[in-house]
Amino acid sequence: MSERVIPLVDQRLLALPATVPTQPIAASGLLSDSLGRPLHDLRISVTDRCNFRCNYCMPKEVFNKDYAYLPHGDLLNFEEITRLAKVFVAHGVRKIRLTGGEPLLRKNLEILVDQLANIQTPDGTPLDLTLTTNGSLLTRKAKSLKDAGLNRVTVSLDGLDDAVFRAMNDVDFPVSDVLDGIAAAKDAGLGLDANGLFTGLKVNMVVKRRTNVDQILPMARHFRGSGITLRFIEYMDVGATNGWCMDDVLPSAEVIQHIQQEFPLVSLDASAIGETAQRWGYANAAGVFDPALGEVGVISSVTQAFCRDCNRARLSTEGKLYLCLFATQGYDLRSLMRGAQATDVDLASAIGHIWQGRDDRYSELRASMPVDSAPAVRRVEMSYIGG
Ligand code: SAM
Ligand code: SF4
Ligand code: SF4
Repeated sequence: MSERVIPLVDQRLLALPATVPTQPIAASGLLSDSLGRPLHDLRISVTDRCNFRCNYCMPKEVFNKDYAYLPHGDLLNFEEITRLAKVFVAHGVRKIRLTGGEPLLRKNLEILVDQLANIQTPDGTPLDLTLTTNGSLLTRKAKSLKDAGLNRVTVSLDGLDDAVFRAMNDVDFPVSDVLDGIAAAKDAGLGLDANGLFTGLKVNMVVKRRTNVDQILPMARHFRGSGITLRFIEYMDVGATNGWCMDDVLPSAEVIQHIQQEFPLVSLDASAIGETAQRWGYANAAGVFDPALGEVGVISSVTQAFCRDCNRARLSTEGKLYLCLFATQGYDLRSLMRGAQATDVDLASAIGHIWQGRDDRYSELRASMPVDSAPAVRRVEMSYIGG
């Protein structure tokens, strides 16, 4: 097993300046980066705090009572987030995901959801507004979030066995409360599509060897035919604190083999360009995909990099723009707004300039590196830039 690396440098203190180029870059919706990738998807981290201590994300030894979370004044306020989101939408973003940390810990999140849901896209297509949550507060919040305009939700759940789940969240949180949260989301109609199916309600399970591989089949059994899509995520080497090693990664191909021991699956086409999950449908007795049984997805960030189509930007809790989940530094958009009093045209130019220079493709490069040689010390934490 590799040793846990505790970073000596706090990456949050480092920032790249966001500058307004002398030649303005208009938000035409046609922006592309240096590898020809458009800007389509924006993840916004609304808090760096969480009530769980999942070992692969916010291990207790690091995120303890001495850990310095961002002070409230450093966080983007809802007006700043909405203002930036509008500029991103003008540049072509059509999907916004709120995340964290645990996004439902941010006070009055419904107000932000309402503001974002009211953003008009230039071509009139509706903005796809979604959120990733650990589900712990969903029973209380599902209805108000739906009423505020949230379309969809993804709940993270790493197992059905209560002991396994309590150990993984490391705060002894019971699995039944998350299942209640998922039920509340369904009752509220979160993720319900025009055909009466819950295509927008998803459950994500991070699979870690020696930890929850025995939960793959129980999870598949539980969600098969429920209308909820279960997706399995390969354990990733994000951040610098989780002690990641390749031995703990169960490749997605093996996840599919596990499920096929009990349920035949057929491969399905990707639903959209830039879609991170490979889709597999449950087959009926004739070996044909049966929509009533639903589908599973696998997100193979480690074994099959999907950087080529990556159209995703990340906005950190205090307003830095990150071009990759594995980036070491972000561009400081907050100081453009607070210090430099930038206009919206300036912000569009600055964001356009940054995106045009983007050449990040970490996972592709990692695939060509020797196992376990990827540098671990300088990356920012996922709880800070959002998963
Ligand atoms: N707290 C919320 C939650 O857990 O859904 C949102 C933030 S969390 C950082 C977003 C997603 O990242 C979760 O689905 C989580 O399981 C996933 N994640 C965190 N660390 C990961 C890792 N090392 N490898 C793969 N996925 C990870
Ligand atoms: Fe919290 Fe989500 Fe990270 Fe778990 S994965 S520690 S719930 S932010
Ligand atoms: Fe996108 Fe970076 Fe992940 Fe590649 S490694 S898919 S560029 S976020």
